[in-house]
Amino acid sequence: MKSAPFQMHQVSTKDEILELLDRYGDDARIIAGGQTLVPVLAMRVASPDHLIDINQVASLKRFGISGRSLEVGACVRQSELEGWDELTRAQPLLAMMLPWIAHTPIRNRGTVCGSIAHADPSAELVLGLAVLDGSVTLVSKKRRRIVKAKDFFLGALQTDRQTNEFIEAVHFPISGAATGYGFAEFGYRHGDFAVVAVAVIKDGDSWTIGFGGIDDTARVHKINAESFDQVNQFLDELASETEVREDPTATSGLRRHLMRTLGKRACKQAMEFKRG
Ligand SMILES: Cc1cc2nc3c(=O)[nH]c(=O)nc-3n(C[C@H](O)[C@H](O)[C@H](O)COP(=O)(O)OP(=O)(O)OC[C@H]3O[C@@H](n4cnc5c(N)ncnc54)[C@H](O)[C@@H]3O)c2cc1C
Repeated sequence: MKSAPFQMHQVSTKDEILELLDRYGDDARIIAGGQTLVPVLAMRVASPDHLIDINQVASLKRFGISGRSLEVGACVRQSELEGWDELTRAQPLLAMMLPWIAHTPIRNRGTVCGSIAHADPSAELVLGLAVLDGSVTLVSKKRRRIVKAKDFFLGALQTDRQTNEFIEAVHFPISGAATGYGFAEFGYRHGDFAVVAVAVIKDGDSWTIGFGGIDDTARVHKINAESFDQVNQFLDELASETEVREDPTATSGLRRHLMRTLGKRACKQAMEFKRG
């Protein structure tokens, strides 16, 4: 199939984006990397009348440390962040996750903010932002607001973004020197979306364990555990008790099994984590 007709707006400033979003609202979509939006248009899952191409807005191409966060602008490609020399030091969890997103050609075009905007329940960056307790800067003509990940992701492909707002940047908190990280994922083929993904942050006895792919959005749990046995026990109980998604890609039984096995693997990695 081919997409329905639309008008393309090439913009070079943030003000132009805001003006167009204000004028067209739900009839307009931002296009960043196009890796998700173009197939969506081709399948006519969405048929907006206006596309706003933000790729020439220079101020949205920046990323770097700002205060205690890694700030990533709306036009930063996933592969740019992945290739940044400082990433492992600044935020090791992102360095672990990024290679699991699709394939290199898709990461060369796909943006970090586009993935967050799309809010796929299995997306690595959605899990990363949720588990790190990061945030999103949303801008409209009338206001700028910063929304925590836990309030931004409302469900599968659902976010708190209003139709007159765009994501200017996302903010991933950077790591403390003693923090450990772990990540594990299962997909059927390299580059497929995760059936289940697990991200872990360990600060002393405090553990943050997040799961992607098990529900409509990432699920994050915080526990205190003095030993690895206690963590294992928590994972066993959680996998037995949690309502887990069942769909044609995997039974809930498989997802529960992956919660246990991948959870333990990622927790062990976080326990043994050494800063590079
Ligand atoms: C074959 C294939 C495999 C993939 N595998 C994975 C995978 O394993 N893991 C994974 O996480 N992703 C995967 N993806 C998705 C990929 O990461 C996309 O690049 C990403 O989800 C969207 O980024 P984009 O820049 O291409 O966004 P676009 O396609 O341009 O936009 C996606 C949506 O977000 C909106 N949007 C984009 N930027 C903004 C913004 N700044 N403000 C407001 N709205 C915005 C658009 O309007 C659109 O609705 C895969 C994609 C493909 C094609």
